[in-house]
Amino acid sequence: MQDIRNIVVLTGAGISAESGIATFRGPGGLWEGHRVEDVCTPEALADDPALVHAFYDARRAALARVTPNPAHLALARLDEEWGGGLLIVTQNVDDLHERAGARRLLHMHGALQSALCAACGVRRRWPGALPPGSICPDCGAAALRPDIVFFGEMPYAMDRIEHALGSADLFVSIGTSGAVYPAAGFVQRARQAGARTLELNLERSAGSAWFDETRLGPAGTLVPAWVETLLAP
Ligand code: NAD
Repeated sequence: MQDIRNIVVLTGAGISAESGIATFRGPGGLWEGHRVEDVCTPEALADDPALVHAFYDARRAALARVTPNPAHLALARLDEEWGGGLLIVTQNVDDLHERAGARRLLHMHGALQSALCAACGVRRRWPGALPPGSICPDCGAAALRPDIVFFGEMPYAMDRIEHALGSADLFVSIGTSGAVYPAAGFVQRARQAGARTLELNLERSAGSAWFDETRLGPAGTLVPAWVETLLAP
């Protein structure tokens, strides 16, 4: 591993599956019983704010019933012990990476425990229920919404992610289907920068052909084994 210094890890819903959080496209292509278009688009929020707010309220409340699994814990260990560059980019909106102890972490699609003011743009920690019309403490507008990046909206921190991908020696994708862009394109960007690319997933993702290596299996087994090897003296 002497040639590896800078690592970028991308995680998706699959890393939290063994903690008991449903993936995006579960049975029947639904997310917790809903069509993705009905809960994850700006149009859905405009058409039926009560439904969309209630959906994320339920997801937020469910966080109290789950805990990080060995894959989250292994990435936190990597963060603690890896002396080189590291950026963990998660598409997940749960808080299991940070509860496991990861710090070099970025939520590119927002976070359940955060509220975004549609009027002034301020984001703030919001651990409780968020009914439509909640007042923004910063600007006073009744415009708080779940701080979730919907389809068609710009993910967070793309400059930082681009910078990290451009200097990555190793790119590792964990538990993501490779169906949601721009995240699905990170592997190609990392390859352009000369990084080795590794996929850890239950099944081959849509972009599997872009990876130098694919290991198939549950994240709770594959990720600790990969981290162990990487950190071995
Ligand atoms: P996805 O549901 O499209 O794909 C999940 C992938 O994980 C699949 O390829 C599946 O084979 C794999 N997988 C399932 N169980 C696994 C396991 N135990 N170990 C390893 N891999 C496993 O998820 P995605 O690609 O992250 O889709 C993106 C969107 O889903 C994101 O925008 C995210 O915000 C949203 N989402 C987040 C959460 C969460 O925060 N936990 C949950 C559902 C959806």
